[in-house]
Amino acid sequence: MFAEKVLFWVLLAFSLHFFPRTVLTVGTVAPSAGTFGTSPFWLALQFSLAVLGVMLALALFAVTVSDMVADLRHERAVDPLTGVLNRRGFDERAHELLADARNWPISLILVDIDHFKTINDTFGHPAGDAVLKAFGHLLHDAMRQVDVCGRLGGEEFAYLLPNCDAAGAHVFAQRLRENVRRNRFDGLPQSHQLTASFGVASARHGEGLGEMTARADAALYRAKRQGRDRVEVDEKLAKNLVPKA
Ligand code: GH3
Ligand code: MG
Ligand code: MG
Repeated sequence: MFAEKVLFWVLLAFSLHFFPRTVLTVGTVAPSAGTFGTSPFWLALQFSLAVLGVMLALALFAVTVSDMVADLRHERAVDPLTGVLNRRGFDERAHELLADARNWPISLILVDIDHFKTINDTFGHPAGDAVLKAFGHLLHDAMRQVDVCGRLGGEEFAYLLPNCDAAGAHVFAQRLRENVRRNRFDGLPQSHQLTASFGVASARHGEGLGEMTARADAALYRAKRQGRDRVEVDEKLAKNLVPKA
């Protein structure tokens, strides 16, 4: 952004400087045609052109480098298959959000596709990839702009929801669960019902992302044990919530 602004102003200066340059050249009475080429006026014009040319080249170089850095940053943080953040990108954003008190209450939802191995085994690995891709898009489309969504690995995804307590996260996870059930996934026959399980936890003061993830993971594990296609909330929070569906 900064490099692009610099490029804009340098380009503007480069273009505009031709006006005074022309006017001054016309208005200057050269002693004679022969000495004009060596006059201080002409040398000053040449020098200003050289300086602006170098500035333009440097600004273009800075824009190219900053674009490359932005692309590399993006590649480093995004999962190429699903388009959501990868684990590294998710962790980075999550740490940033957790560190800012304005985002609290803040909740985490872990999402794990049910019986995903069966999809690979039955329909092949490419079909499994297509399902993961569509699943990532489904999750991405469901989130608010402030939310963070990532693929933590394999068929496990996570959401971090700023300004959202456990009750809100629970409602959101239920809606996602229904979206997954309703969705028809490319690569799977109509008859195949894909489901996912969800574990919800809210951030507590004094604990890090790892501890919150462990509580959400325990809730997810319970959802799996209780039959899958379910949302389970961190046990300590669950007491305060409306009855679970
Ligand atoms: P559960 O309901 O308990 O979660 O069972 P599951 O089969 O979903 O879980 P499990 O951990 O047994 O299997 C996950 C499978 O996901 C195994 C692995 O081969 C597959 N997998 C992991 N990453 C990818 C990937 O990028 N593409 C595809 N197609 N499969 C993947
Ligand atoms: Mg699974
Ligand atoms: Mg899993």
